[in-house]
Amino acid sequence: MNKKILVIGSANTDMVIKTKHFPLPGETVLGGRFIMNPGGKGANQAIAAARLGGQITFITKIGNDIFGRQALQQFLKEGVNAGYVISDPDNPSGVALITVDEKGENAIVVAPGSNGTLSPEDVTKAEAVFAEAEIILMQLEIPLPTVLFAADLAARYSKKVILNPAPAALLPYELYRNLYIITPNRSEAEALTGVLIKDLATTEQAAQKLRQKGIANVVITLGTEGAFAYNDSLAKLIPATLVTAVDTTAAGDVFNGALAVSLAEGLELDVAVEFANQAAAISVTRMGAQASAPFRKELLSAPLK
Ligand code: AMP
Repeated sequence: MNKKILVIGSANTDMVIKTKHFPLPGETVLGGRFIMNPGGKGANQAIAAARLGGQITFITKIGNDIFGRQALQQFLKEGVNAGYVISDPDNPSGVALITVDEKGENAIVVAPGSNGTLSPEDVTKAEAVFAEAEIILMQLEIPLPTVLFAADLAARYSKKVILNPAPAALLPYELYRNLYIITPNRSEAEALTGVLIKDLATTEQAAQKLRQKGIANVVITLGTEGAFAYNDSLAKLIPATLVTAVDTTAAGDVFNGALAVSLAEGLELDVAVEFANQAAAISVTRMGAQASAPFRKELLSAPLK
């Protein structure tokens, strides 16, 4: 069993404040406690996958500053191979300002910093890792040309690419044919397809549109409703695990990290999505991004071999 997963993506420092309600334009709200956490979709997914038992190599770019050094320490502490973490001498590390309201919903502004300079040349340096990996997992918080280049390189090695298209962006046609799975959330799926998702039929319609672009497997995450899995033999809503949410930050990241691990272990898509739902549900019961990601032993009814 090959559990080697290559994650390529962003690393940020999340600065989080809990608030009764989100501020309106021009409004100042007195919030609760300030917490500073390591985050970034790439780093979150890399660490979630490592905690769930994957062998993770992470390609990312950090600034030559305290945030970058802290991020690197975090990767090492979590058992992520940081041999391809690159230091950018010219730009600060990425930062995200996050507010979380009483319902656990979040609002986020990201300053990409060094994430915005992760280049195809940086990715080329890790070509040997592409040859060894079972799965390549990416998001869209790094430059799109770098994502395109990495997907193309993965295709040359016949590797499976999972793209979590977050934050939403229009994707060029040639990217789709190099993807094994795309994992948008509801609003990202709407942005990519133009279909307004309001029920099961429209979810399937959106998934169908994505498959028509040339991707074998589509997983649309639907928050409290779970996730819709779609390929040539499957069209199924896999319900979320019922929990009381306190912070949904990084639920999608934990979902994607878990999906990568379960697929690397050879599970069928529906079972892999079930596992990812369970992992993501645990994460929404806790504050934080990487901090909320569960360890393998916490998934008591883990369906994995
Ligand atoms: P989202 O990005 O909101 O679609 O969430 C990603 C995944 O996290 C979903 O597919 C669910 O598996 C899980 N999830 C999100 N919110 C909740 C919630 N309130 N309760 C349980 N699971 C959740």
